[in-house]
Amino acid sequence: MAPLELLLAEGRDCELFFFNPNIHPAVEWQRRLDNAVTAAEHYQLLLHIYPGSDEAAWRERAGDGKERCAFCYRTRMMKTAEFAANNGFDSISSSLLVSPYQDRESIIEAGKTAAAAYGLEFEAHDWREQYRHGQDLARELGLYRQKYCGCIVSLEDSKFYDKVCAEHAKLIEADLI
Ligand code: SF4
Repeated sequence: MAPLELLLAEGRDCELFFFNPNIHPAVEWQRRLDNAVTAAEHYQLLLHIYPGSDEAAWRERAGDGKERCAFCYRTRMMKTAEFAANNGFDSISSSLLVSPYQDRESIIEAGKTAAAAYGLEFEAHDWREQYRHGQDLARELGLYRQKYCGCIVSLEDSKFYDKVCAEHAKLIEADLI
């Protein structure tokens, strides 16, 4: 939210791309997609959705620590750059750069590598000072606020595992996912 406000205030022409195979389980993936839809509607921006959640690929890397996160950034940046290049964009960036909890250097490395592979620029903004403001905006819009980073490993490491799994099971029971 906060990065979008800054870019739009500069008069930048932005579109959104949602590709998060690292979000597990499906109930959480859907919540984060719903947030992206709300943000896109609020700012009247086009949102491109590339579906799919791949729990197995992240589970396989459960013991890889920081390398799992590097894989995660690479995977998402590559698809973003591919989409951007195929649709006439000059540059890409990532809302991950607003978070003080993410590995900024690893994100930038993945972003630059992916952008270069497709002849694009990666915009390595430092939006971290906007993190709290972004949270306030999310609250104002009534957005769901994530409780863990996203992958099944980060969920298992959190105290929300039982709660999220119960919510996920309810959706399966109701035949909604
Ligand atoms: S902890 Fe976050 S950045 Fe790291 S692999 Fe999981 S979802 Fe990706």
